[in-house]
Amino acid sequence: MRLGCGAFAAGCVAVEVLGVALFLRGFFPPPVRSSSQPAPPAAPEPSAGASSSGTKLLPPLFGKVVVMLIDGLRDDFVFGSKGVKFMPYTTYLVEEGASHSFVAEAKPPTVTMPRIKALVTGSLPGFVDVVRNLNSPALLEDNVVTRATAAGKRVIFYGDETWVKLFPKHFVEYDGTTSFFVSDYTEVDDNVTRHLDKVLKRGDWDVLILHYLGLDHIGHISGPSSPLIGRKLSEMDSILMRIHTSLQSEEREALSPSLLVLCGDHGMSESGGHGAASLEEVSTALLLTSSAFSRKPGEVRPPERVQQTDLAATLAVGLGLPIPQHSVGRFLFPVMQGRAMREQLRFLHLNAVQLSRLLQASNPVYEREPGFEQFKMSERLHGNWVRLYLENNNSEVLLNLGAKVRRQYLGALKSLSRAVSSQVAQYDIYSMVLGTVVVLEVLALLLLSIPQALGAAAELEVPLSPVCSLLFYLAFLLLWAMHVVVCTSAERSRYLCSLTWPMAGGVLALVSALLCGVLSALTRTCVDGKLLRRNPTPSSWRWSELDFLTLAGTAGHVLSLGASSFIEEEHQTWYFLVSTLCLALCHESYRACFLGEDGEPRHCSSPASALQDRSVSCDVLELDQACQSPSSLDGLGGREKYMALASPWLVLGCCRLLRSLNQTGVQWAHRPDLGHWLTSSEHQAELSILSALSLLAIFALVQSRCSPLSKGALALGLLGVYCYRTATGHLLFPWQQDSKDLSRGIIEARFVYVFVLGILFTGIKQVLKSQVLTADVQAKTVGLWDVHSALVLLAALLFRPHNLPVLLCSLLTQTLMARFLWRPLGHGAAEVTIMHYWFGQAFFYFQGNSNNIATVDISAGFVGLNTYMEVPAMFLTAFATYAGPVLWASHLVNFLSWEPSRCSSSSVPQQSGHAPQVRSSLCQGDRKAIWRWGGPASATRCSAPSRCPPTSSWSPPCATTCSSGACSPRSSSTRACTCSSQPPSACASPPWAGPAPRQTLGE
Ligand SMILES: [Zn+2]
Ligand SMILES: [Zn+2]
Repeated sequence: MRLGCGAFAAGCVAVEVLGVALFLRGFFPPPVRSSSQPAPPAAPEPSAGASSSGTKLLPPLFGKVVVMLIDGLRDDFVFGSKGVKFMPYTTYLVEEGASHSFVAEAKPPTVTMPRIKALVTGSLPGFVDVVRNLNSPALLEDNVVTRATAAGKRVIFYGDETWVKLFPKHFVEYDGTTSFFVSDYTEVDDNVTRHLDKVLKRGDWDVLILHYLGLDHIGHISGPSSPLIGRKLSEMDSILMRIHTSLQSEEREALSPSLLVLCGDHGMSESGGHGAASLEEVSTALLLTSSAFSRKPGEVRPPERVQQTDLAATLAVGLGLPIPQHSVGRFLFPVMQGRAMREQLRFLHLNAVQLSRLLQASNPVYEREPGFEQFKMSERLHGNWVRLYLENNNSEVLLNLGAKVRRQYLGALKSLSRAVSSQVAQYDIYSMVLGTVVVLEVLALLLLSIPQALGAAAELEVPLSPVCSLLFYLAFLLLWAMHVVVCTSAERSRYLCSLTWPMAGGVLALVSALLCGVLSALTRTCVDGKLLRRNPTPSSWRWSELDFLTLAGTAGHVLSLGASSFIEEEHQTWYFLVSTLCLALCHESYRACFLGEDGEPRHCSSPASALQDRSVSCDVLELDQACQSPSSLDGLGGREKYMALASPWLVLGCCRLLRSLNQTGVQWAHRPDLGHWLTSSEHQAELSILSALSLLAIFALVQSRCSPLSKGALALGLLGVYCYRTATGHLLFPWQQDSKDLSRGIIEARFVYVFVLGILFTGIKQVLKSQVLTADVQAKTVGLWDVHSALVLLAALLFRPHNLPVLLCSLLTQTLMARFLWRPLGHGAAEVTIMHYWFGQAFFYFQGNSNNIATVDISAGFVGLNTYMEVPAMFLTAFATYAGPVLWASHLVNFLSWEPSRCSSSSVPQQSGHAPQVRSSLCQGDRKAIWRWGGPASATRCSAPSRCPPTSSWSPPCATTCSSGACSPRSSSTRACTCSSQPPSACASPPWAGPAPRQTLGE
C-alpha cells in the first residue's frame, strides 16, 4: 500500500498528539475524588450500645469566625524580624495572647486560585487550575463555604474577586475587587477596609472573609525587600487589631467565643513572584486567635509546620459543620485542647472516618495502609472508652485510656493524611511510558522516512509483508500480556486499565503497528545504504562543524531536560549554546575570508578590487571561480566583509549585555541586575533616554523593507508606544514636567493597536494577493515583512520599557546574521532554522522569563484594556511572554521566503539538451556570480535554463535580463539579483544538506 506524503504527515501529527495526550494524562493525574454522590451521613460515635446522640454533629466551637487572608503573606512577614518591626500587635498575639501560630505549607502551584480552593476544600487542586486562575469558574466541590451557607450561616466577603467567581451565590453581602491590575496596591485594600467599621458593628453575620491583595501586588512590583512591604504590613497589623478588639468586646456581650484567623494563600519568592515550590513561596503564616484557647502565659513555642489544607477541616469543626468530603487535611488539634475528652475524641473520630473514606475511594488496597489499620484500632479503643465513660467511670483508668486513644487517633490521622495526599502526587507511570513510546516511535518513523517524504508528490511504502504482520502479532500479544499483568497487579487505578478492552486493545495495536513500521523503515534504510555503497554515487553533502554543533547542541539540550536543575536554569544552557554558535560562525566567516577551499591562505582584497570594476561581466571564467568557492565571502564588498567578520562579535556583545539585563532562573534570580537598576525611580531619566533610543533604532532596523504605508504607520505606532509609557508613568516626557494626572494609557495603547492591526492587515492582504492573483515574489516578501513589523510593534508596546533593548538586540542580531553571515556563507534552510530556534529560545530567557510560572508578566495582559477581558488578556500575556520565539519564527519565514523560491524537483518542467550537472553548475555559478557583481551587467549572463514557472509581474532592472524565471533581489542595499533557478541536486537533497554541492563547469 502506498501513502501520499500529506496523509503520512497528517497521520504522524495525529498519532503524536495521541501520544502526548496519553503522557500528560499520566503526568497530571486528576485529583483524588471519593465520589460525586452527596456526602455520606456523619459516622456515629463508636460505642457498644450506640446512643442516638452519637450520630449528631457537635455544636459549633465558635460563634463567629473572621478569616483575614493576606495574599502573599510569607511566614517571616509575621514570625520573622519584619513581623516584630512592622506588626507589633500580631507579634503580641503570637507571643502572649490566646493564640496558636503555625507555618502553613502550601502545595505548588502556589497561585492564588488553587490556594483558595485548598483553603476551603482541603483538597489539593492540580496544575490544571493554574490555567483557570485568571477566570475561575464556580467551585462545585464540597467545601466549607458551601456547607456553611447550607447550614444557614450568613457569610460576608470583601476582597479578591476570585472568591465571588468561586462562590457566586453564597455570600449575603460581598464586594469583589479585581486582582488584575497588579500595579495598584492601595485601592485594592482600601476597597476592603472601608466596609470593616460597618460590618463589625453589625451582628448579623457568622462568617466574615477578607482577602487583602496589596501585599502580593507590592511583591510583584518591587519584591519582598521593598520598603513598601513594611508600610503594608503595618497597615495590615492595625486592621487586625481593629478586628480583634471589636470581636473581643462583642464576645463579652454574646458570651460565645469567636475565632480570628490570619493566613496567607502562598508565600513570595525572593524576586517577588510566586507559583513554584521554593521554600519562600510555600511557607505562609497562619495564626488562630480566640478567647476560647487556653494557653499558659509565657509559653512561647516556635510555630509548628502544618499543611495549608488542614485549615478547611479546622474551620469546619469550628463552625460545627461536616468536614469537606475531599479534604486531605487533619484539623489543627491545639484548637481543641481545652475541650472535654469526649468531644476531643469525637472530633478526632469524625476526621479519621472522613480521611479513611477518601483513602478507600482512591486506593484499591487501602487495608494495607498502616494509617488505616491504626484508625481501625483507635476506633475499637474509642468504643471501649465510650463504654467506660457511659458507665460513669471517672477513674484514673478512663483518663489514661482517653489519652491513649487520642494519641492513637493523632497518629492515625497523620498517616492517613499523608497516604491520601501522596495519592495525588503520584504519576500514572504506565500511561506515561506508553505515551513516550508512541511519541518516540513516530519520531523514529519520521526521521527514517524523511528522504522519501520530502518531495510534494512522494509516496511512502506502507509495509504489509507477511514478516511484518507476524512481527505485529507477536508485539501485540506481548504488549497484551504486559497490559494484563500491569492491570491486575496495580495498587492504584491506572488510566489505561480503566479503559474498555477494545479501547486499550486499540492503543496497544497502534503501538505494535508503529513498531513494525519503524523496523521496516530501518531495514529498508540499511538495505538502501548497502546498495549505495556498492554503486558509489557522489555524496550530495558533507558535514560541517556547524552541522555537528547544531545537532549536538540540540540533542544535548534535550538530554539536559532530564535533570530538574537544568530545567530551572535552562537559560544557562541557551546562553551557552548561543555564545558557542556565535564563535562557530565567527570561525566560519574568518575561514571563508582568509582561507581558500583547500585551506590555503589567500588574499581578501582581490575580489574587492575587482568589485570596483563594475563593467566586468560574469563570464564563464568567473562563473567557474565562483562555483569553486560558493561559501566564501567573496560576494561582499570591502565594508560589508568587515561587517561579516565583526558580526559574530557584535552579537556576542549583545548577548552579554542582555544577560545582565534580566536575572532569571531560580538560583540567581535575586541578584541585582540592570533591569532593576533601570526600573528604580531614581533612574527614570536614564530609562526614558534608553527607551527612546531603542524605539528609534527599532524603527531604523525594521522600516527599510516595509511598504511605504506601513513605514509611516510603524513610526506613528512607535511614537504611540512611548506616549503610552509616559501616560502610565514609567517614562518621562521631555516637555511635560508635571506627571500629576496618570491615566492607564488606554487611549495611547489603543492608538498603537490600531496601527498594529493596520500594518498586519496590509501585510496579509499583500501576501494573499501575491499568492492568489499574481505570482509576485516581491509583493509577497514585502507583505511578509509587514506582518513581521506589526509583530515587532506589538512587542514594543507590551514589553516593559527596560526590556526594549531586548527587542532591539533581537532585531539587530537578525539583521546582522541574515545579511552578513547566513546569506553569504550559504547556510542551508535546516541550519538556519535550527539557529533561529536557538536564538528564539535564548531571547525568551533574555526577556527575564524562566520555566517558573512566577515570571509570567501578567501586566502585559491589561495594556489598553479597561476591564478584564479573558480572550484578549490571555492572548496579550501569551504574546508578551513568547515574543522572543515568535519574532524569530516570523523572521525565519521572511528569511526563507526571501531566498529565491526553492523549486522542488517534481514541479520542475524537464528541459532537454543539458546534462543535469552542467545545468546545476551553471545555475550555481549564476547565483554566485550575480551575488558577487550585482547589477544589470552581470544579470545579462543569467542564461541558465530555468526550471521555475516564469513570473513576470514585477520588473526591477535585473528582471528583464533573466531569459525566463523569476528574479528577486538578494539584498536591498546592493540591489543584486538572482534568478530563481536551482540546481537539481540541491532540490533533491534534504533541506538539512547545507551548501549545495560544489561542482565546476569542468566536471
Ligand atoms: Zn495570591
Ligand atoms: Zn500574586
